[in-house]
Amino acid sequence: MANTSEFIWSNGELVPWHQATVHVLSHALHYGTSVFEGIRCYDTPNGPVVFRHREHMQRLKDSAKIYRFPIPYSVDELMEACRETLRANKLDSAYIRPLGFVGDVGLGVCPPPETKMDLIIAAFAWGSYLGEEALANGVDAMVSSWNRAAPNTIPTAAKAGGNYLSSLLVGGEARRHGYAEGIALDVRGYLSEGAGENLFMVKGGVIYTPPATSAILPGITRDTIMVLAREAGYEVREEPIAREALYLADEVFMTGTAAEMVPVRSVDQIEVGNGKRGPITEELQSAFFGLFNGQTEDKWGWLDPVSPD
Ligand code: PMP
Repeated sequence: MANTSEFIWSNGELVPWHQATVHVLSHALHYGTSVFEGIRCYDTPNGPVVFRHREHMQRLKDSAKIYRFPIPYSVDELMEACRETLRANKLDSAYIRPLGFVGDVGLGVCPPPETKMDLIIAAFAWGSYLGEEALANGVDAMVSSWNRAAPNTIPTAAKAGGNYLSSLLVGGEARRHGYAEGIALDVRGYLSEGAGENLFMVKGGVIYTPPATSAILPGITRDTIMVLAREAGYEVREEPIAREALYLADEVFMTGTAAEMVPVRSVDQIEVGNGKRGPITEELQSAFFGLFNGQTEDKWGWLDPVSPD
């Protein structure tokens, strides 16, 4: 099995990886009733740190709140459970997957009101989602024939298991056509986001990204890049963007915890700029990865040490 480590934190206990199992009638398996996070732990010169730990755990709690299945742990408790999981697995750098899910509570679509979510935290070594080479040379992307959900159907601000059927359609279609990733439009036809990443473009030195109202997940890497870009003196605009703007952009890139910050060198077989990573993309990548190699000062308290001394 891919991506293993020794222990998974499960409802308050560390259990051996292969014993962390659920019943086949678990509600989440049938109806997508789960919420989750993807978080990274980076090995820095000052030891392993969890990146934007509090914001990720808060988003997990928020995702559960939207669906009225509160997670019975505080953000601080979740953060400590996560550190414990990393320490138990002796991981210095890792992808971390907290998951809250509705478990074995019967098969009614609406479970009893007092239902609590089960919670697990797994952590394992995982490189960049779209590959190391992609970080330097960029990827080819296509706009999907599938749109993101309309705002009054499925809330995209919740990082819920069921939402990822949309990502599967968008990303799967792209891969079958030989692209690294798919980009979805919202139901109005404006750009939304990648299957598992937020989307940015640069035009005339200004950085643009679709707003929260374009059916995006409000990404934590997206927020990080907006802060770093403004810090570097760039104007960043969150506004609806038309598909063809990507074709005419100077630079396009995508952001996400798993993908990190990936240049897009073509969209729908139209070269973006000169078909290579652009200078602003490269500058922001350096600022981003600099947080983990000590070259960018963490002015924001984004790095949470795994073992505070
Ligand atoms: N959009 C979608 C659909 C995602 O799955 C992700 C990955 N979590 C993102 C955007 C990026 O979010 P983040 O930067 O918080 O990982």
